[in-house]
Amino acid sequence: MTYDLVIVGGGVWGSGAAQAAVRAGVRSVLLLEKNIGLAQESSAKSGGIVTDLLWHPEDQAFVRRSRELYEEARVSSGDVSVARRVGMLTLAEGEHVSSLERRLPDLAARGVAHELLPRDEVERRYPRLDRLRDDTVALWTPDDWHVNPTAYAQQATAEAREGGLVLGTAERVDAIRLKQGKVAIEAGGTVYEGHRVLIAAGTWTRKLVRTAGLDLALLPYRVQLSSLELAEPHRLPLVWHLSTDVYLVPDGERDVLAGDGTRLAEFDPDAYQTTGDDRFQEEIAERLLRLSSLGERAGLRSSWAGLVGSTPDRRPLLGRLADRVYVACGDNGIGVMRGPAIGELAARVALEMDDAPHLRPDRFPPEPFPIRPGFTLD
Ligand SMILES: Cc1cc2nc3c(=O)[nH]c(=O)nc-3n(C[C@H](O)[C@H](O)[C@H](O)COP(=O)(O)OP(=O)(O)OC[C@H]3O[C@@H](n4cnc5c(N)ncnc54)[C@H](O)[C@@H]3O)c2cc1C
Repeated sequence: MTYDLVIVGGGVWGSGAAQAAVRAGVRSVLLLEKNIGLAQESSAKSGGIVTDLLWHPEDQAFVRRSRELYEEARVSSGDVSVARRVGMLTLAEGEHVSSLERRLPDLAARGVAHELLPRDEVERRYPRLDRLRDDTVALWTPDDWHVNPTAYAQQATAEAREGGLVLGTAERVDAIRLKQGKVAIEAGGTVYEGHRVLIAAGTWTRKLVRTAGLDLALLPYRVQLSSLELAEPHRLPLVWHLSTDVYLVPDGERDVLAGDGTRLAEFDPDAYQTTGDDRFQEEIAERLLRLSSLGERAGLRSSWAGLVGSTPDRRPLLGRLADRVYVACGDNGIGVMRGPAIGELAARVALEMDDAPHLRPDRFPPEPFPIRPGFTLD
């Protein structure tokens, strides 16, 4: 059998693409994922932050559409962890205050709820943030979310399976071969055929396209998170401290996830240290102490690292790479908050129902470039 569309990669992007393809009425869609479960790689390792603070207008639109898709999944699954409104405090001191203030007109113009708070007010609302510098100013964005990408991916594909999606988990694709009028996708001993293939394999995407003699300007870099147990209940929202680039994600009454431990160098997705490194664990404890005395008695539960995909302009690589071969990658570290919408667009582009020429994956030559973090205020 030749599928109309074969999607490789069952993270947030590939799962969103599978749902969109089935919703668009495509008859035969196959989703291949190398792990036993969906969204077990970068999507599962993420902090799950969804914010309206992204600086690029198209990213802001991706976040808006992704919120709708997360919300649909939350309602249809009945799983409240899929999307929760927790609010975010972005803390600025010194030179960072003006960067924060520069964002206010844009937030106001877009109707994004926000408040600028002096340090005293932050401490009144969140007494646990008791180590802030006197010149701290905070931006409070109450409608920022925490999402569960794995639960989203499961719900999106469950719906798609009812509409005919064929899901192959524990199916590692080894190679993509271009044939006359078709694409052959080799996974273990099996060869699947598709009229088109969409490779949404996160930071593995470059390795996969190379098996077909193609290439991309995608460089995987490493991002780390720690799970910390605090000695007392904290009632913190999402917190992003611009001076240290540390962010905190509330994870139950006493626990927080603390990041980011970004290492701006190229890593191989099949051979990198998946646990947090010692330097990161020391840095994160010291940075937490700059915000809260709770850091003094924090215990490390675990820490881990995942890869995210950098592109030269920090925009996704999305669209046709060769006849019948399409890709969606280049998350630049902010791919959970935009993932369902990017997956949807990728499916529509692969099915020629939509076009995004500015995101064409071959707009850059596959040559080295400086890696820059994607989650920045400007
Ligand atoms: C520590 C950390 C914190 C982060 N925090 C945030 C955050 O707070 N907010 C945010 O928006 N983003 C965050 N990100 C980024 C976010 O996780 C990614 O942008 C997002 O998960 C990308 O989704 P994806 O579907 O493209 O990739 P992935 O989730 O990696 O999915 C790719 C899938 O392809 C599969 N695959 C790969 N190769 C093959 C193959 N050969 N055959 C079959 N399947 C294959 C993989 O198994 C995987 O399931 C964070 C990332 C990390 C590492």
